Amino acid sequence: MAKKKVTVSLEGAVMTDAGLTYKGVIMETIDEKCEGCERIVSFEDKKYCPTYAQPATKWSKGVCNFATHARADVDKAGKVKVNPLKASKRAARGR
Ligand code: SF4
Repeated sequence: MAKKKVTVSLEGAVMTDAGLTYKGVIMETIDEKCEGCERIVSFEDKKYCPTYAQPATKWSKGVCNFATHARADVDKAGKVKVNPLKASKRAARGR
């Protein structure tokens, strides 16, 4: 199956005294963990994420589930998390 192309933009975003405003929300710049994500959009020499207004907050709870460069099922330490429900089904099938 072909990988879906991510199309993102900050069309209509306006820089105000409070910061970059997009769809009525003040946008924060990306987190360092966002580097490499295809959703990053540059606006006046700064990088923003049209998907999440506060990227650092998104990463504080684990891997961003919309990241194109990291998988949501890999935790911060790089260990693969096993979905408990899937693990239970695998055990029941004897695999
Ligand atoms: S989608 Fe997630 S990883 Fe990608 S730029 Fe936005 S907050 Fe960062």
